[in-house]
Amino acid sequence: MQQAASRIESVIVGDLPDQSATIDDIPAHYQCTDIPSTIDDMWICNQMDDSLPDFVEGTGGYDSVRFGEGNLLPYIGFISLNPSVANHPSAVLLHEMFHSVGFGTVWIFMGLIDSSTPPCSYSGSAATAEFQSISGCSTAEIPMPETDSCQHWGESCLQEELMTPMLVDAADGSTPFQLSRITIASLQDMGYQVDYGAADPYTSANMGSSCTCNSRRFRRDDHFSPIPAMSDELQRKAVAYGRQVLTKKRQQRQRRLKNHFRHKPQHDSDGSKYVGDQFIFLMVREGNVRYSMIVTNS
Ligand SMILES: [Zn+2]
Repeated sequence: MQQAASRIESVIVGDLPDQSATIDDIPAHYQCTDIPSTIDDMWICNQMDDSLPDFVEGTGGYDSVRFGEGNLLPYIGFISLNPSVANHPSAVLLHEMFHSVGFGTVWIFMGLIDSSTPPCSYSGSAATAEFQSISGCSTAEIPMPETDSCQHWGESCLQEELMTPMLVDAADGSTPFQLSRITIASLQDMGYQVDYGAADPYTSANMGSSCTCNSRRFRRDDHFSPIPAMSDELQRKAVAYGRQVLTKKRQQRQRRLKNHFRHKPQHDSDGSKYVGDQFIFLMVREGNVRYSMIVTNS
């Protein structure tokens, strides 16, 4: 976990406005209680959670965002891991951590995606330029998932990139991934100050061959085999579990606000907004594939 945090810190190098916080700002069921009164950049509660069902390896997201200063970036986030998984691959930790800093979810509020006609399109200029440069397709948009609701890059094209919706185990049991300049650039599109030096050497060879325009590549077939979709049963169970967590968070929040109102004015007026009961990312596993999915409260 510390490794994943250090990796994110090497990607995001700029300072964000400080934000005040109290223990009331985090859901009552979190094990983390050491939230500082002033949050410098971001605070992420990382916990082992033995209440996670077998099929959920981990969850991620954020509870509070800065609000009203032209900056919608999160400052309180969370990652929960299932203790029954012996070794959480670094790909899973880093993937969830990117969601905790807003990857995929703040895009819509920042006007970076248009989902009016599926698949949605991403319009952030920095990430689009990186994709065009790596793929050699000088006018292409970043391929987005056909079915996912717009929180990842398209799997069939970006393949081994960290922020596609599926992480596939290799034959040796490892979970290979590449953190590309495209993902780092999308953090720049979101308003973070970033360091591209933190990227892995992701090239067009890590992409599906149908979405590169590099004429020096001669491949008759795609070297990536198609990845099976999640079963309907797992999808159903995961959505039900996610909604249950969101309901619990909403109830806890309402209880806290009720207590809070007795003492001081509503907390959300200080340039922040609580969104912890709106959505949650789950990392679920079936066979040798881990699927990252978002569950919303409606
Ligand atoms: Zn994801």
